Amino acid sequence: MDFQLSEEQRMFKQSVHAFADERLAPLVEEWDKKGAFLDHSILSEYVDMGLLGITLPEKYGGAGLTAFDAVLAMEELARVSPLAAMPVFETSVGPIRVVELFGTEEQKERFIPPACTGEKLMAVAMTEPEAGSALTDLTTRAVLEGDHFVINGQKRFITGGGYSDYYMVYVRMSDAKGAKGIGGIVVEKGSPGFTFGKQETFMGLRGTPSCDLIFEDCIVPKENLIVPEGGFVFLMQAFDVERCGNATMSLGIAWGALEAAKRYAQERKAFGKPICEFQGVQFLLADMAMKVEAARLLIYRAAVNAGLGLPSIYESSVAKCFANEIGKEVTDMALQVFGGYGYSTEYPVERMLRDSRGWPVAGGTVQMQRVNIAGAMLGRRFSQR
Ligand SMILES: Cc1cc2nc3c(=O)[nH]c(=O)nc-3n(C[C@H](O)[C@H](O)[C@H](O)COP(=O)(O)OP(=O)(O)OC[C@H]3O[C@@H](n4cnc5c(N)ncnc54)[C@H](O)[C@@H]3O)c2cc1C
Repeated sequence: MDFQLSEEQRMFKQSVHAFADERLAPLVEEWDKKGAFLDHSILSEYVDMGLLGITLPEKYGGAGLTAFDAVLAMEELARVSPLAAMPVFETSVGPIRVVELFGTEEQKERFIPPACTGEKLMAVAMTEPEAGSALTDLTTRAVLEGDHFVINGQKRFITGGGYSDYYMVYVRMSDAKGAKGIGGIVVEKGSPGFTFGKQETFMGLRGTPSCDLIFEDCIVPKENLIVPEGGFVFLMQAFDVERCGNATMSLGIAWGALEAAKRYAQERKAFGKPICEFQGVQFLLADMAMKVEAARLLIYRAAVNAGLGLPSIYESSVAKCFANEIGKEVTDMALQVFGGYGYSTEYPVERMLRDSRGWPVAGGTVQMQRVNIAGAMLGRRFSQR
């Protein structure tokens, strides 16, 4: 076991670190305060940095690297804001991987290159008003009529909603109940019968587009079917890597909060000396560091073991659950180090605390991760019904 990065990985990480600090960090407050979306024009800079399609095959314009390389980049970017890491998330661990893993050659050639150039990003649409954790209750229906599918239904809380060009929509394709009847189909923005609900106003992650997707007799060419009925297990396998991306968002936020608290504790004085000289503050910082390091190791293990493939459900669920939990704790501790200023919107840690709160819900709640972990540990799937 080797805990050192390769020379290429070290240099890549350093360049992403500098890009995050110099180019993106100055924009972060505006994204949060104005709820402004990441400007499409900046994506060309991500392309220049080699940040889009890190894990996608070189043949289609990707970098052909591992999930671990994507994790390294996301961690550096999420340190300044999870929004900054979003384009990497979407193009390296998001639903485009479903196309890469299970699509036909024609589908890969159509959908992957525009993701790697940032021209057309893909969002994932699983959740419905009446099917969140109980995902296999989903009712959005796709019916084949000649050369196209007709889709009816509604999706909720879709990150990238209204902004992304493509949506990997989980649909029910027959009367078969539960996972059996589910498949995955790409719906393009602008398809007839496809509209968006109003943008959500979330506690954090402000500036991340999110809304309902509404399908009313929506027409989609049959060539857009990526995973046919009965392939729910494949959709979930691809989701094992998305889970590592979600975990890395929490890690990056927590690391950013720790760094901010370290700096502040050395500058702020109380009782005539820097507050870092008080053991009470040192213990806060030490506890934060232990949590960040432990989350980092769990995520790295899951990603390194995935290699060019996918992580295991056990390692990715352990990593996500732990990182999501410590993301909340570490940002809260950072706020404490900042005292009254931590509670003020003039300082960054209240934003980090708010941003940390979405990840333990998104991508499967921390309760559902524990269900995964227990199931993998005990070698059984436990029906929740
Ligand atoms: C910031 C953010 C981004 C998101 N992005 C997307 C996206 O891009 N695409 C998408 O499809 N969805 C997305 N979602 C939706 C997210 O996946 C769901 O909110 C999540 O799966 C939970 O579903 P729910 O909200 O319906 O909660 P529910 O399923 O109603 O759960 C409510 C509570 O009950 C608990 N619970 C439910 N069942 C069990 C059980 N069996 N055991 C123990 N506890 C249980 C849950 O853990 C939770 O605490 C996003 C959500 C957020 C907050």
